[in-house]
Amino acid sequence: MNLVSQLVTKFEKVYISKESWESRVAERFRAVFPNEKIIMVEDHPYANHKGALSSEEFDQSKKEIFLTPFKGSFFKRCPGAKKGLACCNYFVLNLGLQCDMNCSYCYLQSYLNTPVLTFYSNIEDAISEMREMAEDHPEKSYRVGTGETIDSLSLDPITLYSKDLMEFFYEFPQWKLEFKTKSDHVDQFLSLKHQSNIIVSWSINPEIIVSNEEHGTASLKKRLQAARKCVDKGFPIAFHIDPVIWSPDWKQNYLGLVDEICKQFSPDQLPYISLGALRYQPEQKVMMRERFGYSSQVLRGEMHQGKDGKLRYDSRLRTQMFQTILDRFKSHSPLWKVFLCMETPENWLNTFSEVPHRIEEMNELFKPLPKIKSLNL
Ligand code: SF4
Repeated sequence: MNLVSQLVTKFEKVYISKESWESRVAERFRAVFPNEKIIMVEDHPYANHKGALSSEEFDQSKKEIFLTPFKGSFFKRCPGAKKGLACCNYFVLNLGLQCDMNCSYCYLQSYLNTPVLTFYSNIEDAISEMREMAEDHPEKSYRVGTGETIDSLSLDPITLYSKDLMEFFYEFPQWKLEFKTKSDHVDQFLSLKHQSNIIVSWSINPEIIVSNEEHGTASLKKRLQAARKCVDKGFPIAFHIDPVIWSPDWKQNYLGLVDEICKQFSPDQLPYISLGALRYQPEQKVMMRERFGYSSQVLRGEMHQGKDGKLRYDSRLRTQMFQTILDRFKSHSPLWKVFLCMETPENWLNTFSEVPHRIEEMNELFKPLPKIKSLNL
């Protein structure tokens, strides 16, 4: 079975709004899904749904797709741009909501209130928004990621949105686009032309965490193989070791992961590696317990509530984990660039003895950007 057919079998229904019916992405869905799975709808298929999702509804939301235009502003600052967290000036372009993979710690479990995977059919509006910004502020270079509320690439063999985005970023080489994924779906864009401003990145974890906690994702081996394919085609790549998850064997698991990365890649092939520790909203705990039970490691470590309301490991444990990983990278080569994601300035200080924008190799990523009034960013 080819990859597109495998993806098709994951879904029971594809709802397409009347407004989206003639869109290019709807045409692609209609071409690859059998007719009996396609349903044209005038309204949202779950317009009457109210309140938080039950764990059964959340499970079901991964089996149905809704194609609809997005009516708001696509372009948003990353949620890391909050008081109390050190932010790397990242912008997010959300092209959908929900994911076909199933990680035990996924924050969508406390975020999503619609029981269907939504895909926005009007990518041309997202690109127009970016074009307006690029033309209004030609001197600026933005870093944009598409993998915040939906995986950037897991369904890309069907949507082919990577192609539309890469065309825009080819025109504006000073901008950078990051595809962030836990899949190994890269073949559909490998032969497209690019200006080395498309960063393909993977959230990675030791294989034991992948197989216990990141259900339905590509194995670590497959993610690293996909990364190799991208490097061979001249794409910069990045790894996010995130979330770092505590277990009795955490040290040996993460040291093994660092050694594997350093064996297969060199610092010049990776602009940066980010580290983030497990974090989630307290209200997510119930759903995680119901959906994954106590076999999941994410419910075992002791967590404390931070200033942003999320549960995290104790700051000393986080520092110890980050420092262990950072030291191992630096023992392979001082050229590895590692930074912390969604972390407090205090933990930056504990890990690096400095706040990010004062560390020379981090300066470009973390220097504050001017406010863009027209977009209220
Ligand atoms: S890949 Fe990301 S979005 Fe998908 S289930 Fe895992 S954490 Fe959630």
